[in-house]
Amino acid sequence: MVRSLWLRIGQSSQPVCTLNRLFRALFAAWWRFHRTGLTRWTVAAIGCTLMVVIGQISWGRTQAPDIDRTMIDRAITVEEQLPEPRSHPLPAALAQWHDHYQQGDYFADIQPTPIGYLVWSQFPITVFVEPALATENPADAARSQAWVDAVQQAVQEWHTYLPLQEVVTAETADIVIWRAVPPLQLESGSNRSDLTSLPLPRVRSAETRYHLFVDRPLHGPAKLAQRFTIQITPNQTIEYIKATARHEIGHALGIWGHSPLETDALYFSQVRTSPPISARDINTLKRIYQQPTRIGWELVQVSGDSRDIPTTIAPIHN
Ligand SMILES: [Zn+2]
Repeated sequence: MVRSLWLRIGQSSQPVCTLNRLFRALFAAWWRFHRTGLTRWTVAAIGCTLMVVIGQISWGRTQAPDIDRTMIDRAITVEEQLPEPRSHPLPAALAQWHDHYQQGDYFADIQPTPIGYLVWSQFPITVFVEPALATENPADAARSQAWVDAVQQAVQEWHTYLPLQEVVTAETADIVIWRAVPPLQLESGSNRSDLTSLPLPRVRSAETRYHLFVDRPLHGPAKLAQRFTIQITPNQTIEYIKATARHEIGHALGIWGHSPLETDALYFSQVRTSPPISARDINTLKRIYQQPTRIGWELVQVSGDSRDIPTTIAPIHN
């Protein structure tokens, strides 16, 4: 399937959106492969929705007018453009993790993406948490500070298993957490045969999205990289804010799916008694970090200097 996909990179000064087509095709193939799991996805949507939105991979305007036209006119295959999926070394805390009671995991409920599992390979993972409101209204200031405290506690809980570091700049953080109400979403489980009913907008307490891009450091090779954005509403109790943050950060650390058990932090629905991070959560996380992925690996150089071809790859997932 993948081998039949061909790309043609920029035949004009505004390169055509070839990677966009590539990722759309990858998503389509992946969706066909997983469509038998639609029911499970619908159920999962009751809690924190994980909805794949086909992303956009856009090629910016060519900045180097002297790009080798022979090279950019060359058709290349997907395999030539993206790194092969490989597993990264296990982070130390996960390598040492051992569940003596063998409580199992929910790895089977984790959905790989077209580029593999969403694992981190550079540590510490940097996290930006929106600071408290600078306001003269003491009630608003206290409420926003309580939100910050709850989110920071959740960050610290996950820090036991993966190195996380809080930073003060959102632009460069790996995970950005905003104090915001996620946009309304239409109910995905509505009955399409009933033409008299319209999909209802559904209020959600949080949302997590990822964004893929090509990281091109000044020194070192270009790599396929990821970045996460989380929105957590302030309009819930502190206990729920902490539970929501714990759940969403779990997604951003690679648990891109839900547990069927309400004793796990990644249970698909909010429960009255918020569970802590469970052994099953970590068993699942550890298995995810043992899986192959294209993220974090060097992009294959086609020829010449691929830095001449500016790229922004942005599939979205929430
Ligand atoms: Zn969720």
